[in-house]
Amino acid sequence: MSENETKPVDFIREIVKADLESGKHTSIVTRFPPEPNGYLHIGHAKAICLDFGIAEEFGGTCHLRMDDTNPEKETTEYVESIKEDVKWLGFDWGDNFFHAVDYFDRMYDCAVQLIKQGDAYVCELSQEEWKDYRGVPTRPGKESPFRNRPTEESLDLFSRMRDGEFDDGTICVRAKIDMASPNLHMRDPVIYRVMRAHHYRAGDKWCVYPTYDFAHPLEDSFEGITHSLCTLEFEVHRPLYDWALEKLDIFRSRQIEFARLNLTYTVMSKRKCLKLVQDGHVDGWDDPRMPTISGLRRRGYTPESLKTFAKRVGITKVESVTEVELLEHCIREELNRTANRVMAVQNPVKVVITNYPEGQEEVMTCVNNPEDESAGTREIPFGKEIYIEMDDFMEEPVRKFFRLAPDREVRLRYAYIIKCNEVIKDSDGRIKELHCTYDPETRSGGSSTRKVKGTIHWVPAKHAVPAEVRLYDRLFTFERPEEVEEGRDFTDYLNPDSLKINEAMVEPSLADAAPGTRVQFERRGYFSVDPASAEGGLVFNRIVSLRDSWGKAQKQ
Ligand code: ATP
Ligand code: MG
Repeated sequence: MSENETKPVDFIREIVKADLESGKHTSIVTRFPPEPNGYLHIGHAKAICLDFGIAEEFGGTCHLRMDDTNPEKETTEYVESIKEDVKWLGFDWGDNFFHAVDYFDRMYDCAVQLIKQGDAYVCELSQEEWKDYRGVPTRPGKESPFRNRPTEESLDLFSRMRDGEFDDGTICVRAKIDMASPNLHMRDPVIYRVMRAHHYRAGDKWCVYPTYDFAHPLEDSFEGITHSLCTLEFEVHRPLYDWALEKLDIFRSRQIEFARLNLTYTVMSKRKCLKLVQDGHVDGWDDPRMPTISGLRRRGYTPESLKTFAKRVGITKVESVTEVELLEHCIREELNRTANRVMAVQNPVKVVITNYPEGQEEVMTCVNNPEDESAGTREIPFGKEIYIEMDDFMEEPVRKFFRLAPDREVRLRYAYIIKCNEVIKDSDGRIKELHCTYDPETRSGGSSTRKVKGTIHWVPAKHAVPAEVRLYDRLFTFERPEEVEEGRDFTDYLNPDSLKINEAMVEPSLADAAPGTRVQFERRGYFSVDPASAEGGLVFNRIVSLRDSWGKAQKQ
């Protein structure tokens, strides 16, 4: 059984399994509830794999819900990108696509019910005053002077709040819970506030908005969510979540928290991602250096590699930081199995094989994937003029340089051994061409046993296709850009060399490569054809280099 078929085991799945076995639930309903205030990132992918994965494994359903209760930063563009990303990962919400904002009438009624029950009240303390009333965890807070106002008065004020009689921030509805609770979230938290903002979906219908802590349990309950999975920072909010459902006496969803994904050399907060985009540090949300799902997709990551990664990271209650090398290892391992090998020459220099007959061409048969025989072979013409990489030649070779140099020999992959006889330069002293001779006895696969130390790749000058190669590196030079020291900003640690662009000549088989095609450039790494190629001109993104530091470390 391959790794992706084995079922993951973790404490959340144990709970779900037990709830089915005990008959507490007959079917499982989970949800993935992003706020449409940015593009999804690799951390969200972990949550998506968990929410949708559990529903799939236990024959349940998973809802995709826009948690759009905060009008200020939400847009339709983000909604669409979220749908696209979840779909691309291979998950299906069926008919279960929801907007929290569509529940606002019901949520409003819930707040009214709490007021009527004596479990909520309208409070007119300013935010500044409230800081003083709320107190600190070690000392009980003070009760709001409005806490025990008549129910009728609160109901009247709440409806006038909704009708727009009050200014933002001057008045709110509070749950009446416990001003002595050591959990500050239980000290009469705000459940509704006045906010005049245009909502991308509800327009100007509302000027009162529920707070996240009040809205979230209701959304889950309205949808019959059995297991509401979220990251650890919500643990302290759980008592309020449970309180709301209990007081309203509606379906009891259960919130369970797990540790969020943190990755080295990566920022994952949406606020920081937005800053990178807005300040032009990257070229949009789908820049291949971004930790966003759209960025990873554009870079060339596959949905399978992200799922494998999520599975290997696993689900726990312990905060930790995962090495980005593990993510790279997952895609490398997959592409090693699935990507065809090709020859692509970056920073090309022309080689003229002076003793090769003018006008002659022969066809070299090349293996597409040594890991997969069924991938077959392809043919590359070889002729008098070829390109090799400038980096594979040194005019004054250093020690241990075994590639091409004056009077030295090297093997051309799938072809012959050549020797460099002459370096041709232009008037500025730059190398223009290398004149070489080949040894006709040494054709690859032939009878000659002659060996040289180095083998390099090449492309035929006559048939090569020009391309642009974008070499991406880490966006940050610092391992934990999310934990920078006081007085520093995470953007201080941006890697100035995170993108390098090379001119290249690639083998003719790539001439019509469709955007999204993934290949291994022999000796150089895995690359994918960028969507920009559709506008004419091949563009390749480097997904990862070939060096697997994570896999290597595991073997030691
Ligand atoms: P941010 O905190 O960066 O603003 P967010 O986490 O609040 O973003 P949401 O849209 O609220 O973004 O997230 C949707 C879901 O994804 C939540 O249930 C959240 O717990 C989960 N999630 C967000 N970030 C991560 C992460 N790094 N690892 C795992 N799950 C995550
Ligand atoms: Mg959040």
